[in-house]
Amino acid sequence: MQLVLSRVAQTIRPSATLAAGALARQLKAQGLHIYDFSLGEPDFPTPEHIRRAAYRAMEQGHTRYTPAAGIPELRAAISQWYRSSGGPDYSADEILVSSGAKHALYNVLAALCDPGDEVLIPAPYWVSYYDMVAMTGARPIVVPTAAEQGFKLTADALRAACTPRTKLVLVNSPCNPTGTVYTPEELYELTMAAWERGLWIVSDEIYEKLIYPPARFVRVATLDVRLRERVCTVSGVSKTYAMTGWRIGWVGAPKELVQAMANIQSQQTGCPCSVSQYAALAAVTGDQSCVEQMRQEFEKRRDLVCRAVANIPRLALRPTPGGAFYAFINVQACLGAEVNGQTLTDDVAFCQWALHKVQVNLVPGSAFGAPGYVRLSFAASREELQAGLDRLERFVQELRPRCPSHNRHSADSD
Ligand code: PMP
Ligand code: GLU
Repeated sequence: MQLVLSRVAQTIRPSATLAAGALARQLKAQGLHIYDFSLGEPDFPTPEHIRRAAYRAMEQGHTRYTPAAGIPELRAAISQWYRSSGGPDYSADEILVSSGAKHALYNVLAALCDPGDEVLIPAPYWVSYYDMVAMTGARPIVVPTAAEQGFKLTADALRAACTPRTKLVLVNSPCNPTGTVYTPEELYELTMAAWERGLWIVSDEIYEKLIYPPARFVRVATLDVRLRERVCTVSGVSKTYAMTGWRIGWVGAPKELVQAMANIQSQQTGCPCSVSQYAALAAVTGDQSCVEQMRQEFEKRRDLVCRAVANIPRLALRPTPGGAFYAFINVQACLGAEVNGQTLTDDVAFCQWALHKVQVNLVPGSAFGAPGYVRLSFAASREELQAGLDRLERFVQELRPRCPSHNRHSADSD
């Protein structure tokens, strides 16, 4: 029988970041050394006290289903985690624990969006936003931002993009893939403009602890009392505590919305992983010094990457990332050049050739709605970053200006 996939299954693309990471794994398995700067996940082990809490949870028999919205202790601890660090003052029943921030984001979209609704996504955007919105039947409306404006969506651009069908806007500061951190004033203006239009604001704050001064993090829901009822605050343990594989994230939102999302989650996954929830409990209630140690190391890597890219002709990294662990590099000056007798047409080709020629694995900007750029994740050791960036420099230097008479399809001699 012929397989006829659903409309959703036919339109959804695989996550470009996960695909790039999988490709690197595959090449490494063949014995190649890959300078893999594709996937955005901390390379540190999960801190020991968190791992131990997971062993204890298993030994104590916490291996069964939990309440759909998460164990009460973790919801209370996350509520306290917010209260003790400047708010918002979420009560435990205003917190939903999900299987990663990705799942938390999907729950929000599933609970708020109907087919035909429009969702504003400032570009460059994190890869999954577009497809997640499409999965709900809503229309992703991409609103471009410019490097000259620091890749920030302005209140005016938001107003211009609104229609009577606009339901919500996705805000992500610090941003994946640009590292952009909005100032509190910019965020206030933007989110109040959204509030005035009656929009929901989904604030993805997964990189909230990875901030490089003078950038300053502020939680959207604390900017104005009126925002509290219109903002969904998404975060989790993946990046802050090097816990990507444990799959615990959460959303803070008004109680009724949390209940609706818990209903969806109860039918969809049952509950987040029990053992991981106890590990996350240890993460948010335990010693926080590991967070600052990792942040400091990421800051050193950020500085190394900025210095190295500044020395590579034809690459540009502006503005300097103020948070997260990504460098979003402009490669437009390399496009049209020749590599192995072929024209380097776009950012996708740039990444393919960089992998092929110097084994450096990056993600094309077009996956983030920004062609002409590539994303480098600096969640890798400084040694690996330095060696990989040296190779990238060699790759760029060996690109030849295109000769007009050259046949595009000449043989690949490599
Ligand atoms: N939001 C952004 C901006 C991300 O980069 C990621 C990637 N991890 C997520 C959400 C999802 O995080 P999690 O691993 O908790 O699902
Ligand atoms: N957020 C990470 C990234 O952008 C992890 C990959 C993913 O979840 O798609 O690389």
